Amino acid sequence: MSLIVVGSMAFDAIETPFGKSDKIVGGAATYIAWSASNFTRPIDLISVVGGDFPQKELGLLQARGAILEGIQIKSDKKSFFWRGKYHMDMNTRDTLETQLNVLGEFEPVVPDSYQNADILMLGNLSPAVQLSVIDQLATRPKLVVLDTMNFWMETAMTDLEKVLRKVDILLVNDSEARQLSAQYSLVRAAKEIMKMGPKYLVIKKGEHGALLFSSNQVFFAPALPIDEVFDPTGAGDTFAGGFIGYLDSTKDFSFEGLKSGIVIGSAMASFCVEKFGTTRLRELSREDIDNRIKQFVELVNFDISLV
Ligand code: AMP
Repeated sequence: MSLIVVGSMAFDAIETPFGKSDKIVGGAATYIAWSASNFTRPIDLISVVGGDFPQKELGLLQARGAILEGIQIKSDKKSFFWRGKYHMDMNTRDTLETQLNVLGEFEPVVPDSYQNADILMLGNLSPAVQLSVIDQLATRPKLVVLDTMNFWMETAMTDLEKVLRKVDILLVNDSEARQLSAQYSLVRAAKEIMKMGPKYLVIKKGEHGALLFSSNQVFFAPALPIDEVFDPTGAGDTFAGGFIGYLDSTKDFSFEGLKSGIVIGSAMASFCVEKFGTTRLRELSREDIDNRIKQFVELVNFDISLV
């Protein structure tokens, strides 16, 4: 099994209607790695952090099966910092501050030991960095998955279009799918986006689940109705981590295989929102995960007789 994960490793400051956090560890690659490590190991990480990033965090990820050779540590610089605020519905958030810091000048180097990976997960990062990683791989991975966000659509669309042409699956949320395609209907948005390159599209709809599209099929996975959504930060990345971690363990990249992947992704995301930052992901047991997946199956399992 082999999986490369590229993405930000960061400090976040988060405000939700239920509380506020100071600088806590976050970033797309961090959430993806914590989530994916429940299904596959090793995870070959590519990222950059400043001298302020706690060594202990890197050690914890290493203990979860992350390979750190592709992480650059710029000891005299600061890590990426993001500050966000959620509204009462928790499906919308405002970015209050983005300090790119080390991410602004990041030139990824893919270690030789990462070559011949089966899956490349391009987590949220500048499309130029994502392109550079694709170009450094001698053999194209069997599956290339891309996550991106409105920030890059607004600031780096030309590079993003180049990346889109090279990926198999795009993961975005509903507003990003609408922005990228200029279509309100998600079915039309999916058709437009698949013309840009990806063979499959996953549209995440927060508490309303996720849709998987191919050129001629659609599948829907629900989100688990949860008592208390505390902090949605990282839910998208946790979804991505569960999705690709599971796919790396099955190697079934067919539409049927992807359907199971988005159920696993949704199950993992449902844990992430229960506590601030990565807290909940760090305390999960295999049993917690299996029970939650069973809850998902129960949620949509019904018999009906047609009259
Ligand atoms: P999510 O809630 O899954 O969309 O992801 C939240 C994570 O994305 C946070 O931990 C942030 O550190 C990270 N993030 C936010 N903006 C960016 C950006 N422009 N580039 C890379 N990572 C980002």
